[in-house]
Amino acid sequence: MNIAVLGCYGGIGGARRTTALLLDDDVLVDAGTGVGELDLDQMARVEHVFLTHSHLDHCAFIPLLADAVAFLRKRPLLVHALPQTIAALRENLLNGVLWPDYTALPTAEVPYIRFVPVALGDTVRLGRRRITPLPARHAVPAVGYRLDSGEGSFVYSGDTTDCEEFWVALNRIDKLRYLMIETTLLNENAGAAARSGHMTAELLAQGLARLQRPVQLLITHMEPGREDAIFAEVCAACAGYQPARLEQGRQFEV
Ligand SMILES: [Zn+2]
Ligand SMILES: [Zn+2]
Repeated sequence: MNIAVLGCYGGIGGARRTTALLLDDDVLVDAGTGVGELDLDQMARVEHVFLTHSHLDHCAFIPLLADAVAFLRKRPLLVHALPQTIAALRENLLNGVLWPDYTALPTAEVPYIRFVPVALGDTVRLGRRRITPLPARHAVPAVGYRLDSGEGSFVYSGDTTDCEEFWVALNRIDKLRYLMIETTLLNENAGAAARSGHMTAELLAQGLARLQRPVQLLITHMEPGREDAIFAEVCAACAGYQPARLEQGRQFEV
């Protein structure tokens, strides 16, 4: 299983792209502006999108992706998400105002997009690959994902503040290889982190104290322009894990 990082920033600016991971050539995990790195043929090969939550930095490019390759595809793009996330996208994005309702166009029988509800802990199998929604705690309903090749697992937290259930779920994963986890804000913004459901370095260290397994830590979704300061705080608070700063273009084999 190959995982390519198309976008991993908490916002845009210069070369920064918001979150999107490409799993092999047919699955996206989140569909932020990183999706714009794919050419048309690559976009046409995407069959599944797994969304962590409804915020635009994670889903904004779904309508544009479906639109760009509509003439190249014969099957709907399957968008997997929590029922609450699906409802939010139907109501606020594919509502006929911000974008046409692609779940009913060009025909209701074969639309451009079909939503597929996911539930915490319920694994979706795609060949040998298994994708499982994990608990998260954010300003809106959200999940993380475990991406399991059978040989090992790559976990992506999505947007979350410290969430005890997330760490409990991680402690059950054998062959946990990578943890891509957000640290959006500086420690001095702990109040904003609590209100917005994000992580600071101190919150991350608090969570990691519950983790009973070794893992390669990949820090993502840092606030644009403050990445150096946030990552320095992560290194100080979580030194035992030798955290790495996730970079766009990186690929992982699991
Ligand atoms: Zn969010
Ligand atoms: Zn976000």
